[in-house]
Formats: sequence, structure tokens, C-alpha cells
Amino acid sequence: MSATTADLFGLLGYPLGHSLSPRLHQAALAWAGRPGTYVALPVPAERLAGAIAGVRAWRFPGLNVTVPHKQAVIPLLDGLTPLAARVGAVNTLYWEGDRLLGDNTDYLGFLESLPPALLRPGLRVVLLGAGGAARAVAAGLQDRGCSVTVVARRLEAARTLGADLKAGFEAASFADGPRLRKFLTEAELLVNATSVGMDGVSAPLAPDAIACLPEGAFVYDLIYRPARTPLLDQAQARGLGIQNGLEMLLIQAAHAFERWTGERPPLALLREAAATES
Ligand code: NAP
Repeated sequence: MSATTADLFGLLGYPLGHSLSPRLHQAALAWAGRPGTYVALPVPAERLAGAIAGVRAWRFPGLNVTVPHKQAVIPLLDGLTPLAARVGAVNTLYWEGDRLLGDNTDYLGFLESLPPALLRPGLRVVLLGAGGAARAVAAGLQDRGCSVTVVARRLEAARTLGADLKAGFEAASFADGPRLRKFLTEAELLVNATSVGMDGVSAPLAPDAIACLPEGAFVYDLIYRPARTPLLDQAQARGLGIQNGLEMLLIQAAHAFERWTGERPPLALLREAAATES
């Protein structure tokens, strides 16, 4: 059977050079025995509305949305799942009848990728970033009863995130060193949900800030390329537990694929696809 536009899946974002999603979903399509192609669709912000019109015209059965469109795409859709509405960010588009809807699978991707023993009510977490991914992470931590401090370049962005979720989060800015250090000194989990580190050389926190983390703290960087960011290097040099964003990527992809097809591909299959050299 040859593929038609009814079998076209894709990823909307800009730029997309680093994405593993096409490889993951292509493997999932083969596993499910479905004809289909998953394509990277690099779309700059000013062409997003036109791209969504194209998605409707060709009726792509499923799409992912990534940086920088996860919030901007919302007004272009016909509705959201309750979770995506609460998070205020979308990474998965799907159809319900003739309505193009948005869901958020980063939420489960994050929660299900964490070491299960780590998550407990009252866990003290410092979350770096207040963008689309940070919103999903924050909602997950809120649901598990964690005590969260959101750190952003603009204090207002950190405050807005907590207010939108109606969560009693603390807010801090990267520029307020003493306040940030106070929270880091007590943190049991540090999550980097900024894009800082994707270049392989920069880190969201200075080494003296990392030095404030207590023994036994766990450092989770949502970035998966490079597999080892400078933040993770610094944390490991201190003997702290570390994790990158690969497992989260696989889990959010599995949930998105299930949203489109009703079938959830095994993580081992996606892990193998991610490891395959393109
Ligand atoms: P986003 O919506 O563009 O948000 C990026 C965040 O990073 C914003 O809070 C931004 O602050 C902050 N930021 C950017 N440069 C900064 C700097 N120099 N100093 C401090 N903060 C800075 O992107 P996103 O979708 O949330 O993605 C964030 C990261 O998570 C990316 O690296 C992405 O690859 C990763 N991610 C991974 C997964 C996964 O499955 N592993 C899933 C989603 C995202 P401003 O608002 O001030 O610009």
C-alpha cells in the first residue's frame, strides 16, 4: 500500500535540525504495520498559522509541535484536552471528528521518566525555565505534591507559571543570586527546562551555584542532545545523580503515537530507534 497524505505525520517547530522524533515515529509506524511517513516540518513563527491551515487542508492524522510553537499554536486549534488547557502548552495535535485538538504528552513523559523512588509529596524541586516544557513539568510536580521553586530570567514569567497553575510555587530569577542559592541549598531535585546547554558548552547555572546543591540531590536536564550537557557534567563531577531528557522524549512520543493510532509502541523499540545512527 502506498502512503497518501492521510498517512502523513509530522513535527512543527523551528529549527528542527536536532530532532529524533522522525526516527522514533517512523519505527513506531513500522511496528504498528501502518503505511505512513513522519516528516520534520520546519516552520518559523510567522508561518505557523499557514502551516496549521495546511494541516487542516491535507488532514494530517497526527502532528507534534515543538519549540517555539507550543503555546502559540493554541489559538489556532479547535480545542484542547483538559490537561493541555491546564498546562497551557501543546505538543501533540490530533483529530476528533472534524476538530483539530491539542494535547500535552510532555507531562506524562516527564513524570514517567523520573526514577519512581524520587517522586514524593514534599520533594523540594528547583525548576529552571518557564517555557512550554517547564509548564508540563511544573504541572506534574504539582500533582505529586512537590514543593517547587520556578527560576526564570524574567521573574514575572516564573510568577505567571505558578499563578496559571494555581500552585503555591516560589518564584525566583537567575539574576537574584542569594535567593536562588537559598533554594538550591535545600533542593532535592534540580530540573533544567531551559534550552541552555543544547550548544554543548553553556550551562544555566554557574559552577558555584551547582556547588550549593546538597549531597544526594538529583539533577535532571530535559535536553537530550547532547546526551551530556555541561550542567550534567558539573553535577556528576560532584557525585550527584543525573538524567538527560532522552527517556522523556521516548515516553512522550509513545503517548502521542497512541493518541493518533490507539496503539502504544514499546519503549524498547523507540530506544533502539533513537540509538540507530541516521
Ligand atoms: P521554550 O518554550 O522556548 O522555553 C525555553 C525556556 O528557556 C524559557 O523559559 C526561556 O526563557 C529559557 N531560556 C532560554 N535561554 C535562556 C537563557 N540564556 N537563560 C535562562 N533561561 C533561558 O522551550 P521548551 O519547549 O520549554 O523547551 C525547553 C528545553 O526542554 C529545550 O531544550 C527542549 O529541547 C527541552 N525539551 C525536552 C523534551 C524531552 O522530551 N526531553 C520535551 C520538551 C522540551 P525566556 O522566556 O526568558 O526566553
